[in-house]
Amino acid sequence: MSELKNPLEIYAALAKTNCGQCGVPSCMAFAAAVLQGQKKPAACPYLDPAVAAQLSQRIVQRRSLEEDHQQAIEQLRRQVAVLDFSLLAPRLGARLVDGNLAINCLGKDFCITPAGEMISDCHLNHWIYVPLLHYILLCQGKEVQGEWVPYATLPGAAEWSQYFSHRCEEPLRQLADAHRDLIFEMFHLFGAQPVALAGGADHSLTILPLPKVPFLINYWEPEEGFDSKLNILLDRSAAENSNAQSINLLARGIIEMFRQLILRHSRDGKLF
Ligand code: SF4
Repeated sequence: MSELKNPLEIYAALAKTNCGQCGVPSCMAFAAAVLQGQKKPAACPYLDPAVAAQLSQRIVQRRSLEEDHQQAIEQLRRQVAVLDFSLLAPRLGARLVDGNLAINCLGKDFCITPAGEMISDCHLNHWIYVPLLHYILLCQGKEVQGEWVPYATLPGAAEWSQYFSHRCEEPLRQLADAHRDLIFEMFHLFGAQPVALAGGADHSLTILPLPKVPFLINYWEPEEGFDSKLNILLDRSAAENSNAQSINLLARGIIEMFRQLILRHSRDGKLF
């Protein structure tokens, strides 16, 4: 029996009266809710029970992104828990503080306990937790080369590179277009360093999401007839100190953090 992937396949079996008796306002909304596991097909009183049972069997319940991350964190924590932090700290560019590894991310310390738990004054989220654990496990201590490469050239980036461009570079470009002064003020609050480059960008700066994984952010302001441009480049050493998935998560997390900061703490184009 084939897996149901499209809500239209469910919609086709419904009465299409949009009566709302299933608890959602339309048959199409019901079909989408069924596919996402929020409703059972049998919640529609007009659906033949045999058809409802058949649809139920064809729906594969998927774990949410949060659940995937939680499972990844549990596995990574178990691997981190057997490591000797005192040997690791110099390679990671980290410090040992009360037996914990203190790793600086964007100017703030995040501590990993010997059991692999994360402690920080900052709001904790999975965007930083998974990359930190990967960093501890994968970082070979390769020094920064000063040779900047596109994300897509990193090993293992193929499956993430579209996501990186659509969910990281493009939203950051849009944020920079809408809140240019604010974005660059925030970058500097998080330790960004300006860089002079020959690429002709109007703004080029480096940030350190992990001690040995710098990002170079280049932004070209819009000009008459031309949209703005933005790219995020990685140092050639990034592949030996982290992995493509973590770099993607870090970039996404930073942009989400900036978006939230702008929403919550800005007024008239200034931070307060
Ligand atoms: S109860 Fe059935 S027919 Fe009515 S809106 Fe929901 S799915 Fe459509």
